[in-house]
Amino acid sequence: MFLIHCPYCNEEREQEEFSPAGEAFIARPEAPEDISDEAWADYVFYRTNHKGDHWEQWVHSNGCRKYFMVERSTITHEILKVAAFGADISE
Ligand SMILES: [Zn+2]
Repeated sequence: MFLIHCPYCNEEREQEEFSPAGEAFIARPEAPEDISDEAWADYVFYRTNHKGDHWEQWVHSNGCRKYFMVERSTITHEILKVAAFGADISE
């Protein structure tokens, strides 16, 4: 178990209050009707399953119920950054 800082509640809470919601920054195709079935399947089903630091989405399911982004190591589970959608994550 680990702690996650919810950027909306502005509190550190136990991981059990949250639910993972998949990899972040998956861009929806602008014109889905113009892409192949393979490209659509790639968008819907396939993820990088990256080993190491990566961005993912979480939802504070037993709290404010808002989605936000977490940069987390998939090796150590260390949380490196937490950000609300639209926040500057460049630093
Ligand atoms: Zn919250």
